[in-house]
Amino acid sequence: MEAVVIGGGVAGPVAAIALRRVGWDVTVYEAYTDPAGDVGSFVSLGDNGLRALEAIGCRAAVAARGTALPLLRLYSGRGSRLGEAARGRVTLMRGHLVETLRDLAREAGATVVTGRRLVDAGGGTATFADGGTAGADLIVGADGIHSRLRTVIDPDAPVARYAGLWTVGGHSAHPVEPGAFGILFGARATMVYAPTAEGTLWAAQVPAARPPEAAPGQEALAALFAGDRGPAADLVRGTTRWHPRTLMQAMPGGVPRWHRDGMVVLGDAAHPMGAGQGANLAVEDAVVLAKCLRDEPSVGAALRRYEQLRRPRTDQMLKVAGANRDAKVAGPVAARLRDVMMPFFFKRFAQRGSAWMDDYDVAWNAVSAPASAST
Ligand SMILES: Cc1cc2nc3c(=O)[nH]c(=O)nc-3n(C[C@H](O)[C@H](O)[C@H](O)COP(=O)(O)OP(=O)(O)OC[C@H]3O[C@@H](n4cnc5c(N)ncnc54)[C@H](O)[C@@H]3O)c2cc1C
Repeated sequence: MEAVVIGGGVAGPVAAIALRRVGWDVTVYEAYTDPAGDVGSFVSLGDNGLRALEAIGCRAAVAARGTALPLLRLYSGRGSRLGEAARGRVTLMRGHLVETLRDLAREAGATVVTGRRLVDAGGGTATFADGGTAGADLIVGADGIHSRLRTVIDPDAPVARYAGLWTVGGHSAHPVEPGAFGILFGARATMVYAPTAEGTLWAAQVPAARPPEAAPGQEALAALFAGDRGPAADLVRGTTRWHPRTLMQAMPGGVPRWHRDGMVVLGDAAHPMGAGQGANLAVEDAVVLAKCLRDEPSVGAALRRYEQLRRPRTDQMLKVAGANRDAKVAGPVAARLRDVMMPFFFKRFAQRGSAWMDDYDVAWNAVSAPASAST
């Protein structure tokens, strides 16, 4: 059996590796020519994403590119600790994650082709912007938040929109507490920071009804955190390398249709999350999809089973992602309430409520029950 995977970001290479593990021939087509490299921002993989990578033999290689940060600590701009949780996180540059996954996909026997952009698909054929085509038993859309395959599957699919939050970040020489991933909810913006082997990685998340044309200068950015206690302003001032400004996008209602006629979407193409758990879910999706193709009698049954297994979890995560965004775009009164309430909620949530997020297991070795015809 042969698969064409569109997109060489996170979900695409993982899908390629997982599909190779179940005996498929795979070619990944990525729109951009340049390799991922040390560009973009950073991502954190949680227990769930790491466990899914472990199932297909990729955890060690990915973990080796990042820094393990066993603690998550939340602070308010007034200096109080809002919460703390133990988490098996690995933080790394998104570019390094993509680079490592593409290498692992090639090692697994997949072909990765760059510089080819999907423009259309149907009847088992993918068509690219250069006029070329590729035929396959399955076309997998791992083509991200503005997925082309999503609209091929469903021309009425909603589009992701700016979610009221923009972000910019960098590498900073300013040191922070080792071993802890920090989130500081300031009065005017949120600062996320991670001490890694290559310096402190930081990202400021700034609420704005309309994003600025360009990121403000270093001093203006530092000034956003001037009234806050903690390392935020110093992190900005200590920046040695900048990461590009990104507009957070979301599609709160989700994507109604994930598959049709041997075409399927996964990762951000299926459930645009913004930041948070998006990369983790992309990894999980890809592994579960391959498992369903391994266990089900036909591609159609496998795609139905994949959606049946994944939809409840991604719907729940979309709600959490929305609530996280709301906490970051809170006005002064809501922010005060957040700072008072969060220690209570976080304690409960971290101890009991988040198990569904972190403890999720793709159960790679268990055979999935057959999909019912009605799903
Ligand atoms: C600032 C920021 C911080 C984040 N932090 C985290 C985090 O800490 N933890 C976490 O889990 N998630 C995080 N995320 C989310 C995470 O990055 C995404 O959810 C994840 O990258 C989704 O993976 P994907 O493979 O579905 O899409 P992508 O990684 O976007 O990959 C899609 C790929 O498809 C290619 N492509 C697009 N269109 C075409 C086409 N027509 N033809 C061929 N190729 C195409 C693109 O070039 C790209 O390489 C963050 C996101 C942002 C913006």
